[in-house]
Amino acid sequence: MYIMRKKQICYNSRKYGGKEQKVHTDIRRGIDETTKNAKIIKESHMEKRTLYKEGTYKKGNLHTHTTWSDGVHTPQETAEHYRSKGYDFLALTDHWVYGIHPELNRDDFLVFPGTELDIELPGRKDHHLVGFGLPETNRIPEHYTFEEERKNGVLTTAERIIEYFGQRGNVTLYGHPYWSKVDSTDIKYLQGMIGMEIYNHGSEFFGNNGNSETYFDHFLFVRNRIFCFATDDAHDIGTHDLGGFIMVKTREFTHRGILDAIRDGSFYASGGPLLHDFYVKDSVAYITCEPCQHIYFQTPHRGDHLFSEEGDCLTEGSFALNGDEEYVRVTIKNSRGEKAWTQPIWLWLF
Ligand SMILES: [Zn+2]
Ligand SMILES: [Zn+2]
Repeated sequence: MYIMRKKQICYNSRKYGGKEQKVHTDIRRGIDETTKNAKIIKESHMEKRTLYKEGTYKKGNLHTHTTWSDGVHTPQETAEHYRSKGYDFLALTDHWVYGIHPELNRDDFLVFPGTELDIELPGRKDHHLVGFGLPETNRIPEHYTFEEERKNGVLTTAERIIEYFGQRGNVTLYGHPYWSKVDSTDIKYLQGMIGMEIYNHGSEFFGNNGNSETYFDHFLFVRNRIFCFATDDAHDIGTHDLGGFIMVKTREFTHRGILDAIRDGSFYASGGPLLHDFYVKDSVAYITCEPCQHIYFQTPHRGDHLFSEEGDCLTEGSFALNGDEEYVRVTIKNSRGEKAWTQPIWLWLF
């Protein structure tokens, strides 16, 4: 049928953070109907997915606060609460204090080390960056409060915080951009993050500003291939908890197994509904999910929408791709307005 996509490399200079920064952009465009390219044609019939084919879904929340910072409940109370509600893992990410909490791990419940650091920007904006890592590779001490770094102005830009976390065995998750009032241009070129919060339940509960779907699209539009997460950002269990989580399909229930699956994109974000599978095969995107009312196939260009007038009746959907989409992702929504979000499947090789 088609496809020859021509590769074009260009270097753009983009403004970021007041400084000119070299950004490497890899652009492919153009469909050449006449040129047969066996490799690409073969690839169009391959299955593409980020969710592992084999594995078990584990539920977790990677952004939570306790009495170690401005939370109401102790780390132990918080961990026990999430475990009792069927969660399999949790990150306790108190503000400016690093928590490892090895005593809270159980055979069926894992606590990830983590923290949340923030910086103020001009114009009443903030960056909030959540860092979490593996107990075995993290190199930030338990209960570390970053005094030295604060005194020396080490952690004063988002780039520096991302680099700091990375050098110490942690990944960076960009927290609640809508709540932080940033512009998408403030964040969409940030490199080195594992993802951003497409949904922050605490922000939604208190300020109706927890949904950051637009920001996620803006990252993807500039081919910044991060993942989307949903979290609680809970400060008080019993009010704004259990509303934002990720489901990680992992081959191994260990800290490393969970984080490896996240790095591979084998997870989805949710504010309630559950997904089963999402993949692209023979240029068709397929989704299976628990009963919902809307299924949105989203690409940088055209998309598609399935809707059930009878309420939560849709359990599967498909969308024929025409070859000019760079990626496809799916959002499902149930009749209560709760959503779940897949990771994007990138269709072009960059
Ligand atoms: Zn925050
Ligand atoms: Zn927070």
